[in-house]
Amino acid sequence: MRPGSGARVLIAGGGVAALEAVLALQELAPGLREIVLLAPDRHFEYTPLSVAEPFDLGRAHRFELAEVLGPRGVEMVVDSLAAVDAERRQARTAGGLELPYDALLAATGAGRHEALPGAITFSGTRTAADVRRLLREAEAGNLARLVFAVPSGVTWSLPAYELALMSGAELGEKGARTEVSIVTPESRPVDAFGARASDAVAEMLESRGIAFRTARALRVEAGKLVLEEDDPIAADAVVALPRLVPPEIEGLPAEEGGFIPIDEHCRVRGLHRVFAAGDATDYPFKQGGIATQQADAAAEAIVAELGFGGDPAPFRPVLRGLLLTGRAPRYLRAEVLGGRITRSSAAEEAIWWPPAKIAGRRLAPFLALRGAPGGAPPDAVALELEAPGEGP
Ligand SMILES: Cc1cc2nc3c(=O)[nH]c(=O)nc-3n(C[C@H](O)[C@H](O)[C@H](O)COP(=O)(O)OP(=O)(O)OC[C@H]3O[C@@H](n4cnc5c(N)ncnc54)[C@H](O)[C@@H]3O)c2cc1C
Repeated sequence: MRPGSGARVLIAGGGVAALEAVLALQELAPGLREIVLLAPDRHFEYTPLSVAEPFDLGRAHRFELAEVLGPRGVEMVVDSLAAVDAERRQARTAGGLELPYDALLAATGAGRHEALPGAITFSGTRTAADVRRLLREAEAGNLARLVFAVPSGVTWSLPAYELALMSGAELGEKGARTEVSIVTPESRPVDAFGARASDAVAEMLESRGIAFRTARALRVEAGKLVLEEDDPIAADAVVALPRLVPPEIEGLPAEEGGFIPIDEHCRVRGLHRVFAAGDATDYPFKQGGIATQQADAAAEAIVAELGFGGDPAPFRPVLRGLLLTGRAPRYLRAEVLGGRITRSSAAEEAIWWPPAKIAGRRLAPFLALRGAPGGAPPDAVALELEAPGEGP
């Protein structure tokens, strides 16, 4: 028997990082005996496409996890991770089950909570109808000012730009006179992607008459958006992105805000054979592509730790964002080194393939083959192209 082949890997979570980790583990260690997925929800939901729902331009598709994981030999336990005993390599679920493991990956994500009191919190499909209602009010001439706000502490701001751009496009086509604006602590649009991407988005906002304002929003009251150290802005409706709150899991360390501290191989600091990936970790950018890159790094480290060999590559973040605009999309990309952006690009053509919103090395082709929107032909190979205008 090869070393490690009798091992059991327990993955807590049924979202983006968890699915990428399953695919990576099976590819890197085909002899791995057992992968168990522990998640409270039987479904996987592709949240990024929920921004298109208010405009009837797309849908956050869902599928049953067991349906795709069962045939791959992955066991599924429907329950939540409640506690970890790293000494005994034992996990406990909320339902009281004791699950032994040889390696544990916490891919438990984070809950989406209100960050801006008085605003509509856009957290995905559940809140798409609220935005649709605002658009109808605007079209009827009953909404003069519509603000999309990025609250302080929210690092993944792309959905606010998508909602604003798509609203601008739809309201423009319908002849509505609503003023659409973005209020964000960022000094420039989509700051995290660097100067070139920022310029491209700024140009697009301007061409659609969408105002951009750098400010820290505090709350919404009586037709106003109250700002920190600034005069309030008149606003008939404000839609804000949520703040993320990871689940509390006994036995796992937690940094400020409850996020799990990890090293560059996605090992949980201070614990042996416990790994974490995705929104639950303390890496500042909470984004699906990043979650998959962490899952890949964790899978490589797990495989090496369990004796399957290999030289695990550390997590080296690359931000990729497919910006939906209501017209042609934009592909934004940034390489990040030591917290600094070293390359920034924006393109009208796809610069990664399949051209998915969550650009996971294994997850994107896997979902494309299942017929997800933005899908690829069955013989497609994941690849990355040089984008025009690379630079800081
Ligand atoms: C509106 C919106 C638009 C977005 N757009 C984009 C985009 O364009 N591109 C992009 O890359 N990202 C985007 N994101 C972010 C992306 O969806 C997340 O970063 C990504 O889903 C994080 O993956 P994850 O696996 O960490 O968490 P999730 O995908 O949220 O999965 C977490 C999983 O853990 C499970 N879980 C929770 N608690 C427990 C527990 N105690 N035990 C076991 N399981 C548990 C949950 O049920 C879930 O299955 C967007 C997010 C939102 C809200």
